[in-house]
Amino acid sequence: MNSTALRMSTLFLRTLREDPADADVDSARLLQRAGYIRKAAPGIWTWLPLGLRVLNKIESVVREEINGIGAQEVHFPALLPREPYEATHRWEEYGDNIFRLKDRHEADYLLAPTHEEMFTLLVKDMYSSYKDLPVTLYQIQTKYRDEFRPRAGLVRGREFIMKDAYSFTIDEEGLRKAYNDERGAYERIFRRLGVNYVIVSAMSGPMGGSQSEEFLAPLAIGEDTFALAPSGKAWNVEALTTPKLDDLDVSQIPAAEKRATLDAKTIDGMIALADARYPRADGRAWAATDILKNVVIAVKHPDGGEDDKPWREVVAIGVPGDRQVDMKRLEAQFAPAEIEEANEADLKAHAELVPGYIGPMVLGPQAKAAGIEHPVRYLIDAHVAKGSAWFTGADENEVDYYDLVYGRDFEADGVVEAVEVRPGDLSPDGSGPLSLERGVEIGQVFQLGLKYSNALGLKVLDQNGKAVPVWMGCYGVGVSRVLACIAEAHHDDKGLAWPVNIAPAQVHVLATGKNQEAFEAAEKLVAELESRGIEVLYDDRLKVSPGVKFKDAELVGVPLVAVAGRDTVNNGTIEIRNRDGSDSAAVPVAQAADVLAERVGALR
Ligand code: ATP
Ligand code: MG
Repeated sequence: MNSTALRMSTLFLRTLREDPADADVDSARLLQRAGYIRKAAPGIWTWLPLGLRVLNKIESVVREEINGIGAQEVHFPALLPREPYEATHRWEEYGDNIFRLKDRHEADYLLAPTHEEMFTLLVKDMYSSYKDLPVTLYQIQTKYRDEFRPRAGLVRGREFIMKDAYSFTIDEEGLRKAYNDERGAYERIFRRLGVNYVIVSAMSGPMGGSQSEEFLAPLAIGEDTFALAPSGKAWNVEALTTPKLDDLDVSQIPAAEKRATLDAKTIDGMIALADARYPRADGRAWAATDILKNVVIAVKHPDGGEDDKPWREVVAIGVPGDRQVDMKRLEAQFAPAEIEEANEADLKAHAELVPGYIGPMVLGPQAKAAGIEHPVRYLIDAHVAKGSAWFTGADENEVDYYDLVYGRDFEADGVVEAVEVRPGDLSPDGSGPLSLERGVEIGQVFQLGLKYSNALGLKVLDQNGKAVPVWMGCYGVGVSRVLACIAEAHHDDKGLAWPVNIAPAQVHVLATGKNQEAFEAAEKLVAELESRGIEVLYDDRLKVSPGVKFKDAELVGVPLVAVAGRDTVNNGTIEIRNRDGSDSAAVPVAQAADVLAERVGALR
């Protein structure tokens, strides 16, 4: 038999009637039930024939578009030695997210979470002149990350498939071109795959470097929050900058004063007590926005300590009392360092910090002026305006400051984006209030600059014969994650509903009933469709009820369904419909292939 149709009688497939117990999102649930993937371990998935077909199609689209911008495909091992990652500090910086292992000789290895080091070293090995550049290399390969919380099936796996590309150029201008080429290819890829996306400005995190954008699929299951401006521009909240506030006029603000505040430690308690004992001169009630909270965190620097070892720094952040600290947003600004709440030992190490009454006068520049040893670095949130007056801790038990003015009475060591972004906050591009949306990161483009070239000594001779470091960019697409996002966006309560370009087949032919004629008509239709280059999933199972076949077709989600059954025998027609149940039609057997071919074309 020459037919390449997927025959359900022999296809390695078992659909599940019940939802898998621990499937937390629809795509994970349906991909398992419909027999595309199977769980091997948390965040680790086995690809079954149907799943692999879809994955291969996505890979093909990615490959075509990335080849189309002149990038060349290579393939690295996933198992790598420690040394290159040591040289770039990522052996430590990646923290617990790396799978590390030892070989039989006790040498350290890792399963690569991404491959910047190896690409850099490869180009260093093989190229030596500006004449060799520009070059962009890429691979489609398995990556490993020991994610703290694998979730949502393929969305956050511990083993997953990534397309990663790396550009090498002689100068920054070349880098910008390579970056834009890659960005353009991503737009074409996601458009062809039918994936809805927004491009957001991003922080570069542990990658280092400067300019970076993320492609997010706007989905409720996403862990990324992005801020959308009325202009259509979007930012990852970690990358959002608060528009700079105007300095306020301090001429009418009285001198700062210390007042007893009993044991009012909570924001609400402080407000109630202040309203009762210290009513405001302007007659309005005290509010959380009048309070400056000083939150103490610990910054875990991966290096730069004694002998360039990791070290822990205690840092205080001043934030308005009505806003919560957003640890993810704050952490992005300390990358590659990680942050956590300060613990008891951190506070003990700084006797000047009086829990509940920590204020600016013992922090940062003020601490230095007061001669406090090892002063705690003090950063102020971007929502605190110069010249604003605050009700804040006075560094003694049960005493607070009133009218302590930023820029008059105290300074900070720097400004940070420490607090949560709220819907209605103003957009940095001046276009108005922001809305907040959820998304899944499906791709990212980075201008790495010289970080990896410098760390690994990648230089070439320029036109004047001088050795110069190479400018690099890196560009990732989460291929397996994209598959999950498509499933997440294209399904209903009965099952998957694939876009035609990546569906495991374009037409699902069902032969139902016991009558030989129906099976013969179906078989003929399959052959005709195949001769037109249409991929077919053929339910040729004997002794399986029509009800089960219909249910399976809905679950598997091939976009067009053709049924040869009772109607075929009685009046010579085949029923054709879309997976979503729309456009159902009874078509004479002889015309069925034409009609289906037309519909496939229309769906493309
Ligand atoms: P995330 O913030 O979601 O953890 P990331 O920014 O760490 O992702 P990158 O290092 O930018 O990821 O990797 C490139 C792409 O690989 C991402 O845009 C994403 O699509 C995909 N990806 C990253 N981590 C995973 C994972 N655990 N499972 C599946 N895909 C992933
Ligand atoms: Mg990323």
